[in-house]
Amino acid sequence: MTGGCRVRRGRGEEILVVGAGLTGAVIARTLAEAGHRITVVDARSHVAGNCHTTRDAETGVMVHVYGPHIFHTDDAEVWDYVNRFATFRPYRNQVKAQTRGEVFSLPINLHTINQFYRRTLSPAEARALIAAEADASITEPTTFEEQALAMIGRPLYEAFFKGYTQKQWGVPPDRLPAAILKRLPVRFTYHDNYFFHRFQGMPEEGYTAMVARILDHPDIAVTLDTTVTRAEARGFSHVFTSAPLDAWFDCRLGRLGYRTLDFERFTAPGDWQGCAVMNYCEAEVPWTRITEHKYFAPWESHDRSTLYREFPRQAEAGDIPYYPIRLVEEKALLSRYVALAEDEPRTTFVGRLGTYRYLDMDVSIREALDAARAFLMHRAAGSPMPAFVAPAPGRAA
Ligand code: UDP
Repeated sequence: MTGGCRVRRGRGEEILVVGAGLTGAVIARTLAEAGHRITVVDARSHVAGNCHTTRDAETGVMVHVYGPHIFHTDDAEVWDYVNRFATFRPYRNQVKAQTRGEVFSLPINLHTINQFYRRTLSPAEARALIAAEADASITEPTTFEEQALAMIGRPLYEAFFKGYTQKQWGVPPDRLPAAILKRLPVRFTYHDNYFFHRFQGMPEEGYTAMVARILDHPDIAVTLDTTVTRAEARGFSHVFTSAPLDAWFDCRLGRLGYRTLDFERFTAPGDWQGCAVMNYCEAEVPWTRITEHKYFAPWESHDRSTLYREFPRQAEAGDIPYYPIRLVEEKALLSRYVALAEDEPRTTFVGRLGTYRYLDMDVSIREALDAARAFLMHRAAGSPMPAFVAPAPGRAA
């Protein structure tokens, strides 16, 4: 491990947290507040992991460097938690999607259905139309495609999901798990908010400022641009790692599959697309979406605009991992890594990369709070801290 640690107060244990993203920051803070001394290391030159935000040097717009992050939750404790460290501004994610030469509203709602079918249906009529379009013979959908056909029928599936999903995952939708689509609702009202959660918003000064504040505690020392080996980690009484599960073991069993994203940045005068996120659902358009970042901060005003075109592809060694793929092949490899992790002494695997799961930000915070509290509970009881606090990845709850 390179980089110095400052002298700190506190009488608890010396604990290492690998990764200064949301998960690592919340664990570090919770344990520091309980009297432990925490060293946080991160391989990157900034905190906040993939929710990192910074001001674009040319336009002054606050950009979501690793793609759009919108905070939404039903978890009141998590909402209170983030509001302790940042001022949240109201924000509604109203996504638009281009397909077949038109712009539609997403997720699929009454407006989308009426525009797509050139109708003026009421909620009940639209429900009946979609029920007639849906494939009732698929009673237990297992793939993404089956789930879509069972839920919305072929015309909407082909217009909005087939091409986008192929681009996003690099795999035809009939090989992807149904769970990916279950994240997206279908609404028979004109409600066009992408999320249905009680609490939603955007931190006024960005996510990086919020995470920096979570980490700002006298018993937390943060070292950036640093990787830590398993051997170096042994010097601590316990390790929480949010590094990629396979990378922690030097990928010795092979690499777990991830999708990564390439962003093509461009700037424009004024407003370019009129909304934060425009999806491009057709396979012929090589990007999945364009994000116009100024719309994430509607309380600011900027003369120029910064936009990112987003291109997903398979992550190779050295790429930033974004989405765990979790096809059948990955699941078999994953269970072998889980077995290694369960044998790793005094180490707990946490977060999106440490547990190889897709996690929304609020779930990361919830699980981080739970992991840190479990640690305190196990210490109080004199029982061993497990390798996974949430159910081990790939295993049922
Ligand atoms: N999806 C799609 N077309 C869209 C938006 C989403 O096919 O216009 C599919 C795609 O497979 C995606 C999944 O629905 O991975 C879940 O969408 P979500 O918006 O949750 O994706 P994320 O924000 O995680 O990229």
